[in-house]
Amino acid sequence: MREPRLTVSLLVTNIGELVTWDAERPILHDAAFVVEGGRITWFGARTQAPSADAQRDVAGAAVIPGFVDSHSHLVFAGDRSAEFEARMTGEPYAAGGIRTTVAATRAATDEQLAANVARHVTEMHAQGTTTVEIKSGYGLTVHDEARSLAIAKQFTDETTFLGAHVVPDDTDIAAYVDLVTGPMLERCAPHARWIDVFCEDGAFGADETRAVLEAGIAAGLQPRIHASQLGPGPGVQLAVGLGAAAADHCTYLTDADVDALAGSTTVAGLLPGVEFSTRHPYPDARRLIDAGVTVALATDCNPGSSYTSSMAFCISVAVRDMGMSPREALWSATLGGATSLRRDDIGRLTVGARADFSVLNAPSYVHLAYRPGVPLVLSTWKDGRQLV
Ligand SMILES: [Zn+2]
Repeated sequence: MREPRLTVSLLVTNIGELVTWDAERPILHDAAFVVEGGRITWFGARTQAPSADAQRDVAGAAVIPGFVDSHSHLVFAGDRSAEFEARMTGEPYAAGGIRTTVAATRAATDEQLAANVARHVTEMHAQGTTTVEIKSGYGLTVHDEARSLAIAKQFTDETTFLGAHVVPDDTDIAAYVDLVTGPMLERCAPHARWIDVFCEDGAFGADETRAVLEAGIAAGLQPRIHASQLGPGPGVQLAVGLGAAAADHCTYLTDADVDALAGSTTVAGLLPGVEFSTRHPYPDARRLIDAGVTVALATDCNPGSSYTSSMAFCISVAVRDMGMSPREALWSATLGGATSLRRDDIGRLTVGARADFSVLNAPSYVHLAYRPGVPLVLSTWKDGRQLV
């Protein structure tokens, strides 16, 4: 027998500051909104709110859209804290970086990998993130990439095949690109929405990057890219030329790269946790925004170069060191992330959007940057249901 469908409406009220990103009313004070069937059905002034089946009084707190973390590498095993400690203290460290994670990931069971993803996703929820993109890329074999994506798919629809993360040891790059664009893509495509390449000196060059992304597109995946993290390169313009949703990192951009992004629908994803953890210079968000480029902020959560799951941390750094205003940084961490994932149902709290939001222990979203490192998320809700 079919269970009757329960439609219970919830009024969230007494909101001191509500960030909606609505075109006319992006930020409201003394506000309220109504959720029904997991979606926002009304928002506006508290005094004009309609009645609902249930009510949640947030006592003057700020409410923001859930963070959309558009770039992470959560399917991994192992720990690289010794490498981080060595880097931060100027000690030499000889271990194999990303290869350490590949070896640990291959050795882990599916259950161990899934438990590790679950732990990090829970950590993200507690910090206000309601949507996360998750990449493969620590398997680098057909079997290990496919199971990485199958595991990621248990946690998000935004899964990305990143077989072209690095070339495995003792492998010829041309042979590896053939594997990635052939049998590996065939096994991975059913579990992925996106295809990604690490386009950088020492990883994959322009020709290999184009070959991988075009094969992915032909298999029904949508392209995004890691570009210009360590130096200028061809990645950004390749991404724009292929209509990629995102070019992420963008730390070293030429004027031509900025112009190309500005005239495109490709979002520049900035990942300040990487520069923080590697002591590299931060990307110049101000330059991109002033040129008219759409900017997203994401954690790049991974055990090597950026082991943070905190979008609030990224906002703090973006405001302090990348020339973003608190409002721009929050936009980039919410609606900017949604744009990077080509989603119009998340990253905003307008009528029809998913009721993905967090309640802050603060009167304003500005506190996210103003009070760095402080756990300000009181509760996180996804599709109108409380997660944390
Ligand atoms: Zn990455």
